[in-house]
Amino acid sequence: MRPVSASITLDIAVIGAGQAGLSSAYHLAKLGLEPGRDFLVLDKNAQPGGAWQHRWPSLTLSTVNRIHDLPGLAMADIITPRQGQVRAASAVPDYFAAYEARFGLPVYRPISVKAVSTRGERLRIETDRQTFTVRGLINATGTWDTPFIPHYPGIETFKGRQLHSADYHSAAEFSGQRVLIVGGGISALQHLGGISQITTTDWVTRREPYFREGAFSPEDGRAAVALVEDRVRAGLPPDSVVSVTGLIWTPELRAAQARGALHRRPMFSTITPHGVRWPDGSELQVDVILWATGFRSSIGHLDPLGLREDTGGITMTGRLATQVARDPRIHLVGYGPSASTIGANRAGGAAARELTAHLGLSKAPDRTGAAIAQQG
Ligand code: FAD
Repeated sequence: MRPVSASITLDIAVIGAGQAGLSSAYHLAKLGLEPGRDFLVLDKNAQPGGAWQHRWPSLTLSTVNRIHDLPGLAMADIITPRQGQVRAASAVPDYFAAYEARFGLPVYRPISVKAVSTRGERLRIETDRQTFTVRGLINATGTWDTPFIPHYPGIETFKGRQLHSADYHSAAEFSGQRVLIVGGGISALQHLGGISQITTTDWVTRREPYFREGAFSPEDGRAAVALVEDRVRAGLPPDSVVSVTGLIWTPELRAAQARGALHRRPMFSTITPHGVRWPDGSELQVDVILWATGFRSSIGHLDPLGLREDTGGITMTGRLATQVARDPRIHLVGYGPSASTIGANRAGGAAARELTAHLGLSKAPDRTGAAIAQQG
């Protein structure tokens, strides 16, 4: 990516070069916008790969749910896993790097967006490098940078180790320690599956986990997404999709169940210096509390725009609920109903089309657009 000067004026900026940002950029180019002149992608990471480059090493292409191909280029054309045992943290970055190169996507990195504000007709984007002024914004900053740990009384008194999934590296580091895993989602189960093979684990969740028998159908997926979509259209904060879909049995989970590792306890009420306590006074001593309690959207840099409702959510509109109702120049992709690889793909296309139409930017495909159109 060529270096850019101190203050830049563009039509559209995409913030984030994960699945959501790359899909958006692909579609902007396909609509005829010239990469690097009409739009840029700004990404905080020094390397391609979005959040995938930071995921724990035991997460492989066979243990993730499913990473959908970006539009126009299949991962299988770039990565050839042997029995799926390829680390997601290396395979996806390789795929994204090839994708950016194949379509000449203008990703400028590393650059961290600090604040977005309104300047009359335009939006002003302040970063740790240049300032940008744009007519429209596609925000695709994911959740990885905003791990969520709920507050429980006594949390600051715990003398053992506390970490979030975002800082989890491998099960081996917990050898000989008693580990309490908190959370009812896929990450918690993956940690349980790995750590219970080498040491004693305990598991607590707020709600009784729901394990579904049989595969997760496309209809189930659509129903789960629709529930989250309804929430964001009503201005409510998005919910986790897993809370709607339930958990799917995998061979790893069956093995964990056979080891007795899936015995779940209800949520504790207090954290003590050496463990946790339940409302009935019973206690458990542990060395480690591993919070697999999810993430929140990394959108703090949008705060100056005042997009939030009193509920804390942002009211979304548009075909796939990517457009911010309070400011139609702004689309959020990978947010709420599009917070999955397939959702991000589709939302990127919808956001690119709606934003270029809103700004009157739809053009005849240029050279890049034509090349992309042939591929995708
Ligand atoms: P990201 O991949 O997080 O990309 C966001 C990019 O924005 C990053 O590169 C980041 O550096 C950049 N950024 C953030 N803030 C700024 C800023 N202020 N300035 C500049 N750049 C910024 N989904 C699936 O469909 N299948 C799966 O198997 C699956 N497995 C998952 C496993 C785990 C452990 C987790 C946590 C999530 C998983 N998901 C899965 C969800 C999935 O990762 C996401 O929905 C999707 O990959 C996120 O893409 P994204 O582009 O929205 O975000």
